[in-house]
Amino acid sequence: MAIDLRLPTDSIVHPDKDRFLNEDNPFEAMMSRFDRAAELLDLEPGIYRILRNPEKQLIVSVPVQLDSGDVEVFTGYRVVYNSSRGPSKGGIRFDMQVTLEEVKALAAWMTWKCAVVNLPFGGAKGGVICDPHKMSIGELERLTRRYTSGIMQLLGPDTDVPAPDVNTNERVMAWVMDTYSMRVGRTENAVVTGKPVEMGGSYGRREATGRGCMLVTREAMEHLGLPMQGATVAVQGFGNVGSVAARLLAREGCKIVAIGDRFGALYNAAGIDVDAAIAYVQEHRTLVDFPGAEAIDSETLLTLDVDVLLPAAMENVITTKVAPKIRAKVVCEGANGPTTAAADPILDSKGVFVIPDILANAGGVTVSYFEWVQDRMGYFWSEDVVNERLADIMTRSFRDVLQLATQHNVNMRTAAYMLSISRVATVHRLRGIYA
Ligand code: GLU
Repeated sequence: MAIDLRLPTDSIVHPDKDRFLNEDNPFEAMMSRFDRAAELLDLEPGIYRILRNPEKQLIVSVPVQLDSGDVEVFTGYRVVYNSSRGPSKGGIRFDMQVTLEEVKALAAWMTWKCAVVNLPFGGAKGGVICDPHKMSIGELERLTRRYTSGIMQLLGPDTDVPAPDVNTNERVMAWVMDTYSMRVGRTENAVVTGKPVEMGGSYGRREATGRGCMLVTREAMEHLGLPMQGATVAVQGFGNVGSVAARLLAREGCKIVAIGDRFGALYNAAGIDVDAAIAYVQEHRTLVDFPGAEAIDSETLLTLDVDVLLPAAMENVITTKVAPKIRAKVVCEGANGPTTAAADPILDSKGVFVIPDILANAGGVTVSYFEWVQDRMGYFWSEDVVNERLADIMTRSFRDVLQLATQHNVNMRTAAYMLSISRVATVHRLRGIYA
């Protein structure tokens, strides 16, 4: 199948460029939604052109001495998509699937995500092509430090502030913070979020994305007149987002009937004990063979007859092939880009209420914002204060998007893009073009 030649090419730098078919190219998926919203907003051509292009794209070679003594050179990226509203914000992922196209899309999504919940941030993303599961702690630390050093020119509390993403965590953020601090000669904890609480991290940050998913799902259910009590839920992905969302939805009275990770999926019509599953994963690093549920395959999980489907793993799982079979009433996109652009109209025609990624998973970056604020103030909040302020922002943003969707008779995704693009565009208009 042909690659879409309209895309800016990165063939020289990327060995894995041919991985994306048209439907799966995340940058194209982002752009097609952007285009639709831009058209509805009647965005002027100049601003449209500015917003279609990333501000900065940095590619770095990251040499790392392995434990064996060999030297391996990894490829790392950091893309600042837009910084008009403030320092650019976005995670760093360590994954074999990382490509420049993907990082660009994720950086753009961060821009819209920060704007949709009205944080004073732009959007960025970083990634290193590697398999962290096959690396020792020492190798990961050396990789993180050298990558951080490589993108040093972008980083800073006032310029670009990374955070965790796929396969990175608090420990990795601590290394980023230390490397930056050593380079500038002072302790600078506001340069990165998602840090351990002991060194300027925020209470509630680890749970924030999952908590945000629960909050917007609750809003959606209320809007649709569906009770949370007894509502059936299937969760794909049982990492930081999926497991927390499942636990909090269970606390709201939902019945979690299916969960899955990258090794397999599980089903129990009577409901899965989420706390027991979390404890099992902590011990075994996978859900496979978790007792008290039957094994199903991943596609079955996505197409179960449930009230809520929560894809909280990777991009492109709800494709044109899967979408016609989706039976959930609500899809809450915990992951970034789980639905392909081509699958959107299929879900619409089936009447599925989709809470789009840029809104659904914005809880993480919202508490990242709180962390950055606390670091800069040097004054730290209790977990209750964090959760209360998070709930405020998530419910208000959900309602803002819903109102726009109703007003323009569009789906939640288009409304979310319209809201965020209009906010970014307004700042560009006010600031003008520096020449
Ligand atoms: N990686 C997370 C996301 O995709 C969090 C980003 C952040 O906190 O800056 O939203």
